Amino acid sequence: MSAEIIDGKAFAAKLRRDVADQVARLKADHQLKPGLAVVLVGDDPASQVYVRSKGKMTVEVGMNSFEHRLDPSIKETELLALIEGLNADPKVHGILVQLPLPDHLDEDLVINAIDPAKDVDGFHILNVGLLGTGQKAMVPCTPLGCLMMLRNHHGSLSGMNAVVIGRSNIVGKPMAQLLLGDSCTVTIAHSRTRDLPDVVRRADIVVAAVGRAEMVPGDWIKPGATVIDVGINRVDAPEKGEGKTRLVGDCHFESCAAVAGAITPVPGGVGPMTIACLLANTLTACCRANGLPEPADLTA
Ligand code: NDP
Repeated sequence: MSAEIIDGKAFAAKLRRDVADQVARLKADHQLKPGLAVVLVGDDPASQVYVRSKGKMTVEVGMNSFEHRLDPSIKETELLALIEGLNADPKVHGILVQLPLPDHLDEDLVINAIDPAKDVDGFHILNVGLLGTGQKAMVPCTPLGCLMMLRNHHGSLSGMNAVVIGRSNIVGKPMAQLLLGDSCTVTIAHSRTRDLPDVVRRADIVVAAVGRAEMVPGDWIKPGATVIDVGINRVDAPEKGEGKTRLVGDCHFESCAAVAGAITPVPGGVGPMTIACLLANTLTACCRANGLPEPADLTA
């Protein structure tokens, strides 16, 4: 293996410490305590795990955590009324509605009901537009975490060829906007892209956000390129025992690491950065809401 491993776990731990320091300063200097409200509809096991760890880490950095666990049969009007209440609550600086929502709820309608200033996931249409036009926005957490790791590794990204595989609103598209904002030459690839291996081979930076286990092999990677693997896929792991599973990314780690200059592992790469960036966004939202300077290095 030749690639440097980009340790997202360590990077995220440092980011959370930085956030905690700034939260302590906000309390001491301004008697302010940032608050994050997380809304979970239903009992999806994966979402429950995410929400639990979000709540735990929110409290660990010194913020208020407000959890709203709602019955899966909740009416849309009731959910919208809850969001309206959170929008008006001065103790709440960030609001996150855990996705996916049950089918009878209109996700776009619900997300766009959040006050854009409290939309710490960066999914509100106004924040999407602000990011797309290079204005100050709330930036989606996963791509923000990827950008922070890339900047930390490379310094300037200006002029680099970046290929983002995946065009979702949550990862692929905002990732591409952020890389463009840092003056990369950006290609967005997707399921209809012709000759994907050739497209990826041109990239100095590859961000894989597909959701297909180990889809990108090492011979797609340009020697020395930086590989950011967003994918989280659970696969069978008979070597660990019957019925056991393990997590893998969208890139085949061993073969990509043999060629790349740097790579994020799965687990321990992009994943931990997502919650750390959520906390950073909540802190930023609190500062903006109170007319205070934004903490440096925590935003795009
Ligand atoms: P989506 O399913 O919303 O999007 C997947 C994208 O991959 C689509 O744009 C799709 O193209 C594209 N795609 C599918 N098959 C291919 C293919 N064969 N070749 C090229 N492109 C393809 O996924 P998300 O963006 O939400 O998530 C992507 C991955 O990232 C998942 O594994 C998810 O679990 C993980 N993830 C990790 C996070 C973290 O914190 N680390 C946070 C969010 C997601 P098309 O549009 O044409 O269908």
